[in-house]
This record gives sequence, C-alpha cells and structure tokens, in this order.
Amino acid sequence: MTEHTKTDGLPGIDVPLAAAEPAARDARTASPKVECNACPVLCQISEGRTGACDRYANRAGALVRVDPVVLLRRTLEAGTPELVPFAARAEPQGAEAPAALAPAEWSGDLLHADEVFVTGVGSSTTYPDYKPAPFIVASQARGVDMVTVVTEGIFSYCSFKVKIDTDRFLGPEQANIRCKGEVVGHVTTAEYGSQMLSLGGVHHLTGGSKKEGRITAEMMQLLGNKKAVELTIDGGSQIVVQAGRAPIVNGVEEQRMRVGCGSATIGIFAKQLLGHVDEVVVVDDHITGVLTEHQAGRCLDMRRSGIQMRGRKSTPGRYFQVANPGTGWGGTDIAEPLSIIEGWNPEVAWPGLRLLMTSTTGEHASWYVLDEALRPVEQAMPAAVRAVVDRIGENCEPSLSTVLFLGGAGGSLRAGVTDNPVRLTRAIKQALVNVTCGGAPAYVWPGGGITVMADVMRMPDDSFGTVPTPAIVAPIEFSMALENYRLLGGHMEYVRPLAEVLGRGAWHDDGAPTALRWAHNAPGNPWPLGQPPLLG
Ligand code: SF4
Repeated sequence: MTEHTKTDGLPGIDVPLAAAEPAARDARTASPKVECNACPVLCQISEGRTGACDRYANRAGALVRVDPVVLLRRTLEAGTPELVPFAARAEPQGAEAPAALAPAEWSGDLLHADEVFVTGVGSSTTYPDYKPAPFIVASQARGVDMVTVVTEGIFSYCSFKVKIDTDRFLGPEQANIRCKGEVVGHVTTAEYGSQMLSLGGVHHLTGGSKKEGRITAEMMQLLGNKKAVELTIDGGSQIVVQAGRAPIVNGVEEQRMRVGCGSATIGIFAKQLLGHVDEVVVVDDHITGVLTEHQAGRCLDMRRSGIQMRGRKSTPGRYFQVANPGTGWGGTDIAEPLSIIEGWNPEVAWPGLRLLMTSTTGEHASWYVLDEALRPVEQAMPAAVRAVVDRIGENCEPSLSTVLFLGGAGGSLRAGVTDNPVRLTRAIKQALVNVTCGGAPAYVWPGGGITVMADVMRMPDDSFGTVPTPAIVAPIEFSMALENYRLLGGHMEYVRPLAEVLGRGAWHDDGAPTALRWAHNAPGNPWPLGQPPLLG
C-alpha cells in the first residue's frame, strides 16, 4: 500500500510519499480515494475532502476543480457596465468538505461571440502535459473564426516584479528581502521615483530549504491575489506591499511619488521661484539640485549665491551623495537640511540672502535668511514661496505599489496547445497569437521561450494559486485565428464551440457542467479576442 502523510494545517489532506495506487482506499470509510494528477504531488483524496492545494476535491467519487472558471464579459463601451450575477457557490459544509459547485446560469443573449471570453482562472491544468488544454474554445470575433486555448499553468519559473513609488530608502541594491524570516527576493534597481523589488522566482521556490520554498509560494500567491504582504529588507526597511495600494514603509503609509529628481525639480520650478528666492536647494538622495549653479538658474541670469555643498559635484548645480540614503529628506538620512551645506563663499554670498530648501516631494521644506555672519536663520516661509512648494506637492502622483507577474510559459504547458510546441512559440513571436493572463494583456519578452509579464491589477481577483511542489498556478490563454491553430498543429479534435463550453464545461468533465463565474473585462484592458493576422 502507498504510505501517506498529513500536511500541517491542512485538515483532511493526504499527500502521498510515493507514487499512489489508483485504487487506494480511505482507512476510515473504506471508500475509494481519488487520485488527482493535476500536478506532480498526486494527492490521494478521500471523499468530501480537498487535495493539498485546496483546488481539487473528491465529490462523490469524482475529482472536481473547487473554484469556478472565470468568464469575462465585455464591458460596455460607455456608461456603467451591466452587472452579471456570479454563479452560485455554496459555502463548504464543515471544515473537511469541499465547496459545493453549482453550474452557472447564463442566458443565451450573452452569447454574442465577442462578448464572452473563457479565462484560465479556475480552468484546470494540462499536467502531466501531454493532455490538451482543458478548454479549447471556438468563437467568432468580428466575423473571424477564432480559437482560445485556456489553461492554468503551473509555473516553477516565475516571479513578481514590484515597483514601489517612494523616495525613501528601502534597502541597498541586491539586499535580501525576507518574509517570515525566509529570503524570498532581493532589491534591484532604483528607477525614477520608485524602488524595484524582485520577489519569488525559481531560486527561492526550489533552491533553498523546504520552508523557504513554502513561504515564497505563499507570499507570491498573496501578492498576485492583490493581498498585502509584510517584508523586511536586510539593512533597510520593513515594508507592507499590496498591489494597487500605497506602500507602508516602517509603519508609515507613503503618500507622494516625487515630481522628479532634485535637478529636474529645480528646472521645472525655476521660473516660478525667480524673484522670490536667492537660492534653492532641492535635497535628493541621488541628484541634489542647486538653483543658481544649475543651467536653469544661469539661463534665468540668477546671481550666484556662493553656497558650498557637501557631496560630489557632477555637473553645475547637480550634486551626488550629499548624504547617506535613508527615510529623511528626499530619500536621504538627514533630518536637518543645513547639514548638507558646507558653508558660504564670503566673497559671493551676502547678508539677507533668501534660501529655500525642499525635498523632491515638497513634504519637507524650510526657509532661511542669511544673517550678518552668513549663517542661515530659519524664518517663516513667504506665501509666494509656499505656493511653489505646494505646487511641487501637487505635481507628485499618489504613491503606489505595482505588482507585475513574470512567468515562463516556454515549458511543457505548450503541449496542451499543440503537438509541436515550438510552432506556438514561433507564432507568438510573429504576433499571430494573443497571449493573455486571466484576460489581461501580457507582454511577451523578446528572445527564446514564452516569457510573459502581466499587471495583476488587470487580472481577475484571486487569479493565482499554489501547489506544494512548490510552484505557482496562474491563468494563461492563447487566442488566435482558428486557421492558424490548425496550421500550428493544434488539437483540433478538442476544439469546442463556446456555447458547448458554457453548457458543459471542460472537455474532460464527465458530463457534469463546470461551475462558471462571471467577471468584467477590467477597464482599460483590450478585449482579448483581437484579430491576429492569418499565417502566410
Ligand atoms: S496539490 Fe496537485 S495533486 Fe494535490 S490536489 Fe492540488 S493539483 Fe491535485
């Protein structure tokens, strides 16, 4: 007999230690278990229970996918989208029972060919890879016969690229990022007003300890499903990241994304400050700007102030490394802005000189006047100067966390599309196939393989799952002209009309309709059923 072990915290889950025998029986009930082969874990599932990923269940001896398939309905071009009710889904009957499924109700009037799109969310997988995709759907788009190949990919090779709009120092480039103490990613480059993080990836899923892989998968699922994750950066900050929300850095919710670097801020507002100031310093961790030295000040014929800055002078009016990175003024570690001023040239500066110091967001700003000894004395900021500082703040966009899924679909799931997988890869590169993730547009990277990137905010809620191998489960769809599908060696015998799919479910369902759930094409998303050109 096959040996089994329970998985911690997941009641009712039996995970085989070795290859399972199809006729395994539940020791308590003596009823036959069902083997799930939708991923390499090969769970033996007792009746009324779910497998290790909670995505499949044994319902009356039949293996069912617990979550409904998400169908997109095209949003109306103008006005409020018409709402279509979700299919009913009963709550689980007790802790061990899987959710009951109810087939979707749909009305024939929805079945206008280019209004409905079957997404990979909840669709099931092609594992062990030789199987055709669960849904290969024929429809028409503007008179062209189309086909969409729909599946849930199991991605071992995938990660999330996260853009955090903040000037504050999150951590050194290449620093490890931890979740619950495990390393799950690293800090990568700083971009214009944002800090980039790379989270997840095959190295952390498979290359470390079992715990590291499990925590990485959990973190990735949460992030992809638009939930908050708490991360700690070695040598840096503690942050909370959630797609579409402002990041929280060391317990403080970030408000503004800077208008530009210190040099750009000088240039943008130089004319508005002219006449109201004698010198302006825009403090920035990367490029601090000094107005009268800067090209903008020189073009406006501003008198030099004689200010002497700390840091390394790059070009006139642009200084690098005026302080260390931190969470103070302009992403530096300073709380006292005058600390970055070395002194004043007494040959050039004059008593009464008016100095504005501000950060790149305008969140920090102080006003000084030089006394007889050329020492800056803080004073109340004049209204005209305050108005420009406010304008800097007004030009800052709201700070957001942006989460992009990056997955390599160049592997085996292509076999679910065609017997000759490289033809799919080539057709995608020739722009003959539209690739979407849960109906959201996917950017396909140039070069080999099918490496796709999609904004999780454009995907349906709860698009991501995990399997305990560990790997991420994510939806992917390939849409193309039916004729192209035939030419690239597609599984033509599995192509089924949309109406049949809506009525019966996946091709491998044993007569029981798949539960369906409606969602709307996200605002701004192009309709996935475009019209790719025909193969030549
Ligand atoms: S973990 Fe894998 S084998 Fe087990 S239920 Fe989930 S998909 Fe099926």
